[in-house]
Amino acid sequence: MIPAPFTYIRVSSVADALSALQVHGEEAKLLAGGHSLIPLMKLRLATPQALIDISSVNELVGITLSGNVLRIGAATRHFEIETSEVVRKHVPLLAYTASLVGDPQVRNRGTIGGSVAHGDSASDLPVSLLALDAVMTVQGARGKRAVPASEFFLGFWRTAVAPDEVLVHIDVPVTNSGWSYQKFTIRSQDWATVSAAVQGDAVALGAMAEIPLRARQVEAAIQAGNTVSEASRLADEGTSPSSDTRASADYRRHLARVLVENALVEAATRR
Ligand code: FAD
Repeated sequence: MIPAPFTYIRVSSVADALSALQVHGEEAKLLAGGHSLIPLMKLRLATPQALIDISSVNELVGITLSGNVLRIGAATRHFEIETSEVVRKHVPLLAYTASLVGDPQVRNRGTIGGSVAHGDSASDLPVSLLALDAVMTVQGARGKRAVPASEFFLGFWRTAVAPDEVLVHIDVPVTNSGWSYQKFTIRSQDWATVSAAVQGDAVALGAMAEIPLRARQVEAAIQAGNTVSEASRLADEGTSPSSDTRASADYRRHLARVLVENALVEAATRR
């Protein structure tokens, strides 16, 4: 329960964070809200030799609307997204999803960048960002690159962010199509056993594979004119859910079908 020893470095700019990553190499980890990394360190599942604290890097914090794109700094906390009038008005799916992350303490510390860079398919925000066709921008010594959400999640705790890069912001297209986020939990304020997000014609699933997935078969079935009920039956196709203490793989498949149907029905009421 006590982390291995580490060096603590607090930085105040992305440039300083990148320099510190260069100095400490793959032995370093960025620290944002600490609500995923510190528990892993306490369990010694992560033993970084240096922690580079980016939580007070002002350029990584904030929400701005520019044309039809909402830009959210990576170190913006869940609570700010949940309560932002701009997010609520222009991307309500994201504000609502943020409101379901853990409890108030978690939402006051955890950041959107930490949530997506952690790369856990049971996390809430990545599922909605996938349905929203968000684009993540990462910065390294050689400059910035944009990674669509559909290419960002690579595996369990693995994303497109390289060890020497910082996720700097996330761009979310503004849309007024219908939306819904459905999260099934064993206990209140728990991680999702399974989750489903719908934004317009896009459907995404959480905790149905090592990474959040788009339910492409459901999307195609809706496009082809099938009913919501018919399309939802395809929700678990192409998924590979695990069995664990929360649910068996078969139960997760059942949940995916039910949650996708509920999400499509609710989204239709918001068109
Ligand atoms: P950190 O823990 O600081 O970092 C996580 C990882 O991301 C680390 O590897 C770090 O190096 C990396 N990282 C962070 N920022 C960047 C960046 N800008 N660029 C590159 N890499 C970066 N989450 C949910 O989705 N749903 C829940 O219901 C939920 N419940 C929770 C309950 C509890 C009790 C706790 C402790 C956490 C819970 N969480 C839940 C996780 C929470 O959302 C975390 O805040 C989030 O997963 C990680 O964000 P963070 O800012 O704390 O990241």
